[in-house]
Amino acid sequence: MVKKMNKKEKDEFRKMLAAKKESIIRKLSETIAESKEMESNVAQDLVDKAETSYTKEFLLSLTDTERRQLLLIDEALKRLEHGEFGVCQLCHKDVGGKRLEAIPWTPYCIDCQEKAEEELKAQ
Ligand SMILES: [Zn+2]
Repeated sequence: MVKKMNKKEKDEFRKMLAAKKESIIRKLSETIAESKEMESNVAQDLVDKAETSYTKEFLLSLTDTERRQLLLIDEALKRLEHGEFGVCQLCHKDVGGKRLEAIPWTPYCIDCQEKAEEELKAQ
């Protein structure tokens, strides 16, 4: 049985996810600003736009890890809205509070995560 989250808990996770998302976008816009010697307000504009929709250029300039993490964060935010946050996307059991606090965007419980990683290694 999955424990229902109250509004306060949901809000905290939402904040954690939004902060992580923003830090990835900010880091990237700084990198772009340095490499292209863009005006800082152009970089800021990118941050503003990236919050609503990702441009192709934006996604292309991310590393695979960052791109994957952003997508995971977006999915986790959607799950929060639908009341499915904290539920493992594979076995539908409780992901666990400690694990969520450490990695709030994780879609899987520890067992499924380990299984998925073993499968990746075996490939
Ligand atoms: Zn699971």
